[in-house]
Amino acid sequence: MLIILDRDGVINEYDGSYICTVDDWHPIPGSIEAMARLYKAGHRIAIATNQSGIARGFYGTDILDGMHEKMTRLLAAEGGQVEFIAYCPHHPDDGCSCRKPLTGLLEQIQNHLQLDTLEGAIMVGDSRKDLEAGAAENCQPVLVRTGNGKDTKRSLKARAIPGASVAIYDNLSAFADALLSGSGLELVN
Ligand SMILES: [Mg+2]
Ligand SMILES: [Zn+2]
Repeated sequence: MLIILDRDGVINEYDGSYICTVDDWHPIPGSIEAMARLYKAGHRIAIATNQSGIARGFYGTDILDGMHEKMTRLLAAEGGQVEFIAYCPHHPDDGCSCRKPLTGLLEQIQNHLQLDTLEGAIMVGDSRKDLEAGAAENCQPVLVRTGNGKDTKRSLKARAIPGASVAIYDNLSAFADALLSGSGLELVN
């Protein structure tokens, strides 16, 4: 199965402020191991991440590449791989088609992996925009309670994701446990 991950607040710690250096990029405990476990079980992993800090001039693509090299190195040490990282470097006011909740990043992933559809894939995120982008591409949205996840969970009570039920887990590791147990994801609304 293809598993598309948001980055900030899902793979790495995120408190709402921009991560602007490689040294400030810290994986959430258990997230790298979870990605490796999913990969070793035969799942494919891609990442779709909004990085408007680039358009805002907070960091450049060289720094972003450095963060991703750090992640890839840590993941390789656990025996895992990411197939493709799609990022949106634009500002919210730029009118691009890739910034989530729009689906351009997911389409980049679909094209890169040469898939006919993303239907049946899983989109894991900590923010409403991740879940909406996933649902728009007929992916199963999964919310984790790390990063923005607790606030997002509260917002789901007020307003569901159009056209999709959401599964909710404490973190990426708990999601991996559930998926790999084979008992199916628990959809909550
Ligand atoms: Mg996020
Ligand atoms: Zn964009």
